[in-house]
Amino acid sequence: MAKAKETTAEQLDTVDRRLLDILQRDFPPTTQPFAAIGERLGLSEEEVLARVRRLKSADKGRLIRQISAIFDTTALGYKSTLVAMQAPQNDVDRPAAAINRHPGVSHNYQRDHTWNLWFTLAVAPQDDLQATAEALVDEAGGYPYRLFPALRVFKIGMQLDMEAAGDIAPLDSPQASRPTSAPTSRDAAFIRELQEDIEIVSEPFAGMADRLGVSQEEVLAWLQEAKAAGWLRRFAAILHHREAGYVANGMVAWRVPDGSIERLATFAASLPQVSHCYQRRTYPDWPYSLFTMIHARSKDACRALAQQISQETGVNDYVILFSTKEYKKTRPKYFVPAEEVTTSRSQSLHAEAQRYMPGGVNSPVRAFRAVGGEPLFIAKGEGSCIYDADGRRYIDYVLSWGPLILGHAHPQVIGALKEAAERGISYGAPTALETELAKQVVEAVPSIEMVRFVSSGTEATMSALRLARAFTGRSKIIKFEGCYHGHADFLLVRAGSGVTTLGLPDSAGVPQGMAQDTLVAPYNDLQAVDRLFSENRGEIAAVIVEPVAGNMGVIPPEPGFLEGLREVTKAEGALLIFDEVITGFRLAYGGAQSLYGVTPDLTCLGKVVGGGLPVGAYGGRREIMEMVAPLGPVYQAGTLSGNPLCMTAGIETLKLLAEPGVYQRLEERSARLADGLRAAAEAARTAVFQTRVGSMFCTFFSAERVVDHASAKRSDSNKYARFFRAMLANGVYLAPSQFEAGFLSLAHSEQDIERTVEAAEAAFAGLGG
Ligand code: PLP
Repeated sequence: MAKAKETTAEQLDTVDRRLLDILQRDFPPTTQPFAAIGERLGLSEEEVLARVRRLKSADKGRLIRQISAIFDTTALGYKSTLVAMQAPQNDVDRPAAAINRHPGVSHNYQRDHTWNLWFTLAVAPQDDLQATAEALVDEAGGYPYRLFPALRVFKIGMQLDMEAAGDIAPLDSPQASRPTSAPTSRDAAFIRELQEDIEIVSEPFAGMADRLGVSQEEVLAWLQEAKAAGWLRRFAAILHHREAGYVANGMVAWRVPDGSIERLATFAASLPQVSHCYQRRTYPDWPYSLFTMIHARSKDACRALAQQISQETGVNDYVILFSTKEYKKTRPKYFVPAEEVTTSRSQSLHAEAQRYMPGGVNSPVRAFRAVGGEPLFIAKGEGSCIYDADGRRYIDYVLSWGPLILGHAHPQVIGALKEAAERGISYGAPTALETELAKQVVEAVPSIEMVRFVSSGTEATMSALRLARAFTGRSKIIKFEGCYHGHADFLLVRAGSGVTTLGLPDSAGVPQGMAQDTLVAPYNDLQAVDRLFSENRGEIAAVIVEPVAGNMGVIPPEPGFLEGLREVTKAEGALLIFDEVITGFRLAYGGAQSLYGVTPDLTCLGKVVGGGLPVGAYGGRREIMEMVAPLGPVYQAGTLSGNPLCMTAGIETLKLLAEPGVYQRLEERSARLADGLRAAAEAARTAVFQTRVGSMFCTFFSAERVVDHASAKRSDSNKYARFFRAMLANGVYLAPSQFEAGFLSLAHSEQDIERTVEAAEAAFAGLGG
């Protein structure tokens, strides 16, 4: 016979049990609460912290759900109701997930009844409860529903008694919510912080105080004021009932004649297993007016208790609805715009992803480390917008980090891809498609007479440099600080993008010798380049540069910089390599080189040239390219290079980009956006340095001109992070790092730009200068 699974509660020692009781009832309001608890229990602070961490950990089933301030919904001016819905019995999960998205939904359970989904909904004072419920139910599938607002509260809240295992003591009297005043915006800021789970560290209020710009003492004093004002019920731990051993949750609804409500309620509320007791409105098809919530160790214990109440009070018309699935059980979040709450689906997808992939991502910047919060998981892209896994829409300025210059899912590209896929997705043999895209590239880009396709930008730069070294017979190269050329070992030296974002010195795992031939100069600094050439005469094979730097934010070349590089490389017998992985087909059909009139020896492409599929390319003068195998001695190969689907996406994208007026349109829209962002910052007196070249842009949170990596790094990236989050909350998806480029596509409309600028006005204003 299978052994019943032990709940966490059954594995606790007496110290754990006493600790849990203190955390639930008497969390000390001091700067070092865990030390204070330690004193009471005769433990060191470290041991208390270790025990609390263990009780919160996954292997203890997260017995402690959260330690935070618990506010009184009504006292804060919020309106709330219980809602019941009839979802199709075989499809409850989907509508439940839709309901969960609302930050005011704190409890959501499936129950064994035709009214099978029960959730609580709280809305802010200015919002309409009925309309919000209607909209939510509509979004969830438009199933029948009923609102059950509380008419009277007889009992609310409880403590799971861990010591005496079995008794449950009430914590709050129902009369608690008699507010003396409404919270001000300062109070709202405290509430937003204090409702979040505290960090399990010696001084858990320190971080909150920092973020609020006050001392820890002020935070603690505010808690007292909040208690006096009736907003705060208590500051305490909430446990998982199931893990605490209370596995059965029965909602018993009683049909009680009006005159007998008081008597039944008083009796039920006196029972420790009854956590909540409310009188609620009735309907012709739901005549039960009194709701009692019973937590017990088994369903039979619940049934027995209901029977006991029935016998005691003579009321025998009642139903018990057991919860069969818990979709949500949390605290409602107050004073947080709905959009600001990271949605549960993205959150749970990220949690799952992290179990299987480092950081849950396949490229580091995607993890939102530089801006905080959880990354959004994307379900769909359409034109200028992406939709996250919770169905929320964002105007997208990341565009897959640049490739999607036509916007998401352009019908011409998708149509061609479908047809191509029907013919097979890879052959590992030549196709006419490769020649077609090669022709387009050669005709477009001034420096390219021959091209080789690879599968990423990294491969393109790596191979171009191998070729340059072979062609010149020299081994040293010059790159610029803050320029990123992919993750080849010898190029991960003072690289921008994620390396800057994550504050990594450079990558671990790169042997010293690998990078010894990589010389580094500041961007826009010709003198430094000259110096390197004179110190390494006859040894430098190539200078590789992003003609417009796009991996430390966006930094345009100073007048004369690219021309200077051309001159010095020519004079010194070195090759000039433009890394146009970002700028190629983005700034102009011929790339940055056609925009600035400087022709490099070799050019690297990626991103746009593949239209969103993995394509990279390098190309240049015929005499150089003829050194590549099989014509010459420079080996370079790829199983999926020139893949027919990738070539198709590239071909269709370039066809559309070759149409007249395309880059002009991009230029005008991008100028409007960048000007709008600059004006919005000015209006809010936020110091920014706005840069833009064509449809690449960046808002540096800096009062100084940004011209190189050093000046870019002096930007206030914390402020950027706050700006990013505010924009996200307003439906605008910017790059999740100060040191990445923003991109515009042809799908971005005038309205998109207007909405973005409006969102920026609000976001800058919220930063407070
Ligand atoms: N070069 C530049 C200028 C880039 O911006 C990038 C990527 O962002 C790369 C090279 C590397 O391209 P990939 O990520 O396709 O390997």
